[in-house]
Amino acid sequence: MDEQQKIRAALARLADVLADIAATASVKNTERCPYKTVASLCTFHGGCMNQLRAPDEPVCCSGDHLIVWQAATHVTPATEPS
Ligand code: SF4
Repeated sequence: MDEQQKIRAALARLADVLADIAATASVKNTERCPYKTVASLCTFHGGCMNQLRAPDEPVCCSGDHLIVWQAATHVTPATEPS
């Protein structure tokens, strides 16, 4: 095997390893909320039913799963004009 073949073989192995890493990252990306920090704080500024709020405390995440959007029924309805 000459030098060029060794380089091509090494690049092929590297491509296989990177493809595996990318595939794993894609799967993991669907398993964890992107707004959750390593300290389990929530950085999402919208409403999520997993948020735990305490006075003078940062918002914490109560789960290790994806966003559970606040249902529209949790929003105080606007008064209808009569
Ligand atoms: S799941 Fe909800 S509470 Fe937890 S980090 Fe994501 S948006 Fe925030």
